[in-house]
Amino acid sequence: MKKKATITVERERLFVLSRSDRVVDHWCHKCQANVKMISIDLAAALAGLNQRTVFQLVEAGKVHFVEMSEGQTLFCSNSLAEKAQQSNRFDAESS
Ligand SMILES: [Zn+2]
Repeated sequence: MKKKATITVERERLFVLSRSDRVVDHWCHKCQANVKMISIDLAAALAGLNQRTVFQLVEAGKVHFVEMSEGQTLFCSNSLAEKAQQSNRFDAESS
């Protein structure tokens, strides 16, 4: 009896959680919505950017962030996802 092999493409490999990673449901004033706020490691992975570029986007006001009461800065995954989609679209159009 033949068994069908199912190949699953692991798309979530970038999101392996380490101790410093954090995801919090939090209100984003810029989005005017409850979004997932994520730590810098996750933010960089989600957007496909390095951390420095993420901070530059934050300074430019293009990525939203929130400072938690304990002092940690978390980033709006909603605005980050837009950045990621834009860069993917740019790649597609440039080919
Ligand atoms: Zn936002």
